[in-house]
Amino acid sequence: MRYAVLGTGIVGRTLAGRLSGLGHEVVVGTRDPATTLARTGAGPMGTPPYAAWQAGHPGIRLAAFAEAARDGEVLVNATAGQVSIAALTGADAGHLDGKLLIDVANPLDFSRGFPPGLDPVDRDSLGELIQRTFPGLRVVKTLNTMNCAVMVDPGRVAGEHHVFLSGDDADAKKSVRELLNSFGWAESAVLDLGGIETARGVEMVLPLWLRLMGTLGHTDFNFHLQGAEGSGSWGGH
Ligand code: NAP
Repeated sequence: MRYAVLGTGIVGRTLAGRLSGLGHEVVVGTRDPATTLARTGAGPMGTPPYAAWQAGHPGIRLAAFAEAARDGEVLVNATAGQVSIAALTGADAGHLDGKLLIDVANPLDFSRGFPPGLDPVDRDSLGELIQRTFPGLRVVKTLNTMNCAVMVDPGRVAGEHHVFLSGDDADAKKSVRELLNSFGWAESAVLDLGGIETARGVEMVLPLWLRLMGTLGHTDFNFHLQGAEGSGSWGGH
């Protein structure tokens, strides 16, 4: 499969590296490849410059959002939530139509400092906003409720724990389930919440997740739903 991972931050890199390691063809999307490769300073949270990461992953191509989206059969949104619409607009709607978009972003709003708020929130969500703005996409929200290292390697957290799916397209969710299985998520660990409007709940988990990170002092944790065993999907999608 050819994946276009839109986003050059730690999340995009982690997902791109894992997908490539599984044998997929991967292109990473950015606003301007030359600018991204020319950065020399560490990013937020001490992330090394993209060029240093790229040197260790020579099989992964960097391209402008539009070229990446054109080449990817499946797209991953790993951009900052406040700019995801801008990034996807840059990707060009003509390159999005009919494609599965796996949305792992969170609409964190740092405009009033830390901890961030969420925008949109409550009666809307980033997942819905993306689906509404680009109706040709088949958006599946998943993996946004955990650190990116756990996304691609659930074994980092001991015991059973869960990952959620939200989306309107049953086939798209089936494909994402299979991808999650290939990352190491057991079938029983994947909980289908229903349509894309259920992205509201998993995005609103973020304030709690951020508080837990502060309390625990690390990011290798996740949610385990006691009582979820054998429940399957209640969402009806
Ligand atoms: P990030 O810093 O949140 O986002 C980086 C990406 O946003 C870059 O590709 C950047 O483009 C793009 N971007 C920034 N401003 C832009 C603009 N004005 N227009 C278009 N694109 C713009 O990266 P991250 O920390 O890897 O997080 C990615 C997403 O995953 C976020 O939504 C985050 O909330 C979510 N998430 C993170 C974790 C985690 O473990 N950190 C876990 C779950 C979910 P350039 O490449 O051109 O610079």
